[in-house]
Amino acid sequence: MSEQLHTSEVVIIGGGITGGTLAVALADAGVAVLVVERAQPKPFLSLGRDCRVSTLCLGVVQALEKLGAWPAEQAASVRAMQIWEGEAAGGMEMHAAELDAPALGAVIENRHLVAALRARAEALGARWLLDAPEALECGLDAARLRLASGACVQAQLVVGADGARSWLRRQLDVAWLGRSYRQGGITATVRLAEPHRGIAYQRFFPTGPLALLPLAGEEERLASIVWSASDGLAERLMRMDDAAFSQALAEALGPIAGGLVEVGARAAFPLARAVAAHWVRPRAALIGDAAHLVHPLAGLGANLGIRDALALADELSRAQALGEDLGAMEVLARYRDRRVADIGLALAGLEGLHQFFSLRWPGVSALRALGLSLFHNLVPVKVLAMRYAAGLATDLPLIWR
Ligand SMILES: Cc1cc2nc3c(=O)[nH]c(=O)nc-3n(C[C@H](O)[C@H](O)[C@H](O)COP(=O)(O)OP(=O)(O)OC[C@H]3O[C@@H](n4cnc5c(N)ncnc54)[C@H](O)[C@@H]3O)c2cc1C
Repeated sequence: MSEQLHTSEVVIIGGGITGGTLAVALADAGVAVLVVERAQPKPFLSLGRDCRVSTLCLGVVQALEKLGAWPAEQAASVRAMQIWEGEAAGGMEMHAAELDAPALGAVIENRHLVAALRARAEALGARWLLDAPEALECGLDAARLRLASGACVQAQLVVGADGARSWLRRQLDVAWLGRSYRQGGITATVRLAEPHRGIAYQRFFPTGPLALLPLAGEEERLASIVWSASDGLAERLMRMDDAAFSQALAEALGPIAGGLVEVGARAAFPLARAVAAHWVRPRAALIGDAAHLVHPLAGLGANLGIRDALALADELSRAQALGEDLGAMEVLARYRDRRVADIGLALAGLEGLHQFFSLRWPGVSALRALGLSLFHNLVPVKVLAMRYAAGLATDLPLIWR
C-alpha cells in the first residue's frame, strides 16, 4: 500500500495558541495550511476551570477578534491592574480609562482559546492532522515530514509551534540558550468573597511574584492564581494540604482582592528563560515558546507567540502575492527582523524586573515600593508603559489591527 501524501503551502507542527493563531491568520489570508498536532495535553481542572490561563493584551485580543477567533463569552476583561511590592506597603494602579480603552486586555482559559482557534482555522479551510512528525528533510524545492502514522507532508515551509521542547528546533540542530529560574509557577483557581470587578493583581516577593487574574462567569467571583516561588518554597506549597495552602495564599495576598472562599486543585510548572539561537533556517521557522521562553511574571509568553504568528502570516501572505518561495531565507529573514525588537525588549525587560524584585538588600523593599508609587504618579511615563503593556505600541500587522 502506498503511503498517504499531504501537500500544502505551509505545515505547522503544534496546534497550541501560537500554532493555532498562525493557522487562522494564514487561512484567512488565503495561504494553504496544514497543522500536525500530536494531541493537546488534557487540561488540568481546578474548580472546573483550566488552571492554565493567558492574560492577553488589548492589541492581541483585538487582532484575534478581527480574525473571528476570539471566544469573547469565555473571556474576562481586565479593566484595571494593581501591582504591589510584597514586603512594604506601596504599589501602583493602571486603569483602562487612562488609555481611553474599554479594557487593558483579557484573561482566557487556554483550553477555550485553543479550541476557538482550531474551530476558526478549520472553518477557513485549514487542515488539522492528529499525528506527530518523525523525520524531516529540507530540500531545495520543499520540506518533507514523515509522520508517525506513516503519512508524509510536503510543503514550501515547515513552522515549529511545538513549544519549549520543540521537536523541529532539535531536528534543525538549533541551540537553546537559557537558564532555569529555579522557581516553580503554581497555578490554581480560587473562589473570591467579593467580585473581582475585572481587576488583575500582582504582588512581588523576593521569592517570586504572585498574580491573581480575573476569570469570566460565576458573577466575577472566580480568579486564577500564578504563584512563582523559588524551588524550595514551591515544593513546600505544593506539599501543603488544602487548608494550609489556602491560609498561606491568603497571607501572601494580604489585603488585596477581598478574601478567599475556596481554593481549587494546584498544578506546578518549572520556570525558565531561553531563546533559540536561530528563529529561521532554509524552509523552516520557529514561533512562540519554540523560539523563546519567558518568565510568566508579566504574562507575556502567549502574547509574544501570537505576535510572532501574526508577523509571520503577514510576511508569508505578501510573499505569496509576489510569487515568492515561502521557504526562502529572504522571506523568512523579514519575519525574523520584524520580531527582534519586541522579543529582545521582552527578554531584557523581564530579566531586569525579575532581578530587581529578587533583591534582598536591607531597605530595598521600601525603595521598590517608593519606585512603584513614583511610577504611579508619573502619568505620561505610566501611560507610555501602559500602551506597551496593552500591546498598542507594538508592530501588529495593519490588516489585523
Ligand atoms: C504558569 C504559567 C502562566 C502563564 N501565564 C501567561 C499569561 O498570563 N499570558 C501569556 O501571554 N503567557 C502566559 N504564559 C506563557 C504561555 O502559556 C506560553 O507562552 C504559551 O502557551 C506558548 O504557546 P505555544 O503554542 O508556543 O506552545 P505550547 O503551549 O507549548 O503548545 C505547543 C503545542 O505543540 C504540540 N506539540 C508539541 N510537540 C509536538 C510534536 N512533536 N508534534 C506535534 N505536536 C506537538 C503540543 O501538544 C501543543 O499543543 C504562562 C506560562 C506559565 C508556565
